[in-house]
Amino acid sequence: MENLKRSVTCGELSASDAGKTVVLNGWVHRKRDHGGINFINVRDRYGITQVVVDEDAGAALKEAAGALRFECCVAVRGTVRGRPAEMVNPQMPTGEIEVAALEIAVLSGCEVLPFMVEERSDARDDLRLRYRYLDLRSFAMQRNIRIRSEAMFRAREYLRGEGFFEIETPTLIRSTPEGARDFLVPSRIHAGRFYALPQSPQLYKQLLMVSGFDKYFQIARCYRDEDARGDRQLEFTQIDMEMSFVSREDVFRVTEGMLGHIFRHAISSELPASFPRLSWEEAMDNYGSDKPDLRFDLRLRDFGPYVEAGAFGVFKDVLAGGGAVKVLVAPGCGGYSRKQIAGLEELAKSFKAQGLAWAKVGASGLEGGIAKFYEASAEKIIEGLGAREGDLLLFAGAAKGIARAALGAVRSRLGKDLGLARQGDFKFAWIVDFPLFEWNGEENKWDAAHHMFSMPREEYLATLEQNPGEVKGDMYDLVCNGYEIASGSIRIHDAEIQKRVFSIVGYDAGDAGERFGFLLEAFRYGPPPHGGIAPGFDRLVMLMCGETTIRDVIAFPKNTVGVSPMDEAPSAVEQRQLDELHLMVKNGGGGTALSTS
Ligand code: ASP
Repeated sequence: MENLKRSVTCGELSASDAGKTVVLNGWVHRKRDHGGINFINVRDRYGITQVVVDEDAGAALKEAAGALRFECCVAVRGTVRGRPAEMVNPQMPTGEIEVAALEIAVLSGCEVLPFMVEERSDARDDLRLRYRYLDLRSFAMQRNIRIRSEAMFRAREYLRGEGFFEIETPTLIRSTPEGARDFLVPSRIHAGRFYALPQSPQLYKQLLMVSGFDKYFQIARCYRDEDARGDRQLEFTQIDMEMSFVSREDVFRVTEGMLGHIFRHAISSELPASFPRLSWEEAMDNYGSDKPDLRFDLRLRDFGPYVEAGAFGVFKDVLAGGGAVKVLVAPGCGGYSRKQIAGLEELAKSFKAQGLAWAKVGASGLEGGIAKFYEASAEKIIEGLGAREGDLLLFAGAAKGIARAALGAVRSRLGKDLGLARQGDFKFAWIVDFPLFEWNGEENKWDAAHHMFSMPREEYLATLEQNPGEVKGDMYDLVCNGYEIASGSIRIHDAEIQKRVFSIVGYDAGDAGERFGFLLEAFRYGPPPHGGIAPGFDRLVMLMCGETTIRDVIAFPKNTVGVSPMDEAPSAVEQRQLDELHLMVKNGGGGTALSTS
């Protein structure tokens, strides 16, 4: 077999190699028989090379070529030769040459394929995951995994250059509430006790700051036991970072530098040296979202100033009740049918708006919908909103948060429907000064909006407890193209402030001591001021690859119900294993569907 060991890859031969004898190893990508001449495309990670079995080749060679099946693994020894001019394929890196086969050996056969490797159809998601190793052979997946690998290397390269240490933290940890539900791992040795898998290395990275490792990072696996919602995975990867003696400016600079480095090297894309900033208030007010897609500058406007002059009582009532009326000028949508508008209204209602009012901008004023209430002031409205003939005005009047969010969702939908966002553009922005707490209506209590370790902005320190809903934190998100890419904050490094925050979210001294005692204790030993951030690596790579789900940039993801169709995790385990772990499964467990289809 030694003479069939690969001497070149399938992606490297060119006209200057003509005359050489080479050995290719790879997979049969495609084959065709052209009147007695066999063309076989052999593929590996590096590319495709065309192999030819000439008409006058020996019978054994012809037979071997004829018997090849798609995706079997082959070795081909042959002579490189230039292609005749009319056969040169400039699209293909190896398109100048072909390899005239001298010997073909099947290294391993391939059964009938469950799908063609290049065939990508979402309807077959579970099938693709079931045979993930085959799906990963496709060009798209090979490219995605290559970009992922490159991005990971470049993150390390950059951070190391900035003086960061890469430090691993444990993945069997104490269960400490951090926002989502923990995955628990029962301890065999300590009956009735459990480890948790980390939702993130948050507490450890803060402890590393107490230890004096002032620049830490880790490409960390994180685990959150959440219900299938949107494009989530139960386990995912973050570039987790923490720094001491920094302000958020320092965190921004390092993050911007790192992302610039990653994008430049992984996908040859130049990002701006720094990203624009928006306060959370501005983002919500202008775009109705804390992760706006800034590839298009469609803004929500305040319709409040026009309400009084019109006769539409609903809006007057909203304002009188302390709410807001927001309006969106949908460019060129004046021709929308009732049905199209109803579709947008449905969306607004799913964000708790009562409805979506509308009016079209016609040649001589506003038309249709609520236009009749604003006849006298139509001109002023059109001018004030900068609307043009053929535009559609969409209004949401409700409590401020609802009006913003509902119209923000409409904005995102219009962005997609109207093709306002250009593929391949990356519009990053920092969203800063988030509310520290959010009201949990179900449990009637305040929750931490991000996690409990973020520092309140200084001006709120004195009055934290009086009006938690007003408190802004020294928190920031990085967003890109409508996705949240990273979250972080300057942390609390003072045990007293930390206790106050714990107490607002409902942990009294005893609870806090029990759950976070080790952190509070560490804060008694000279903790430095510190802050950090954690870009979500999967989502970042997804954007770089132009994909729309993180599953397409993870080698072995779970499906949308948290199952791996390939190895069928999660699986039942033997009674013996349960016994060892001191566990009993209620009602025998089971019963839930393991597939999405
Ligand atoms: N641990 C946080 C998270 O996972 C990120 C951070 O604050 O650094 O969202």
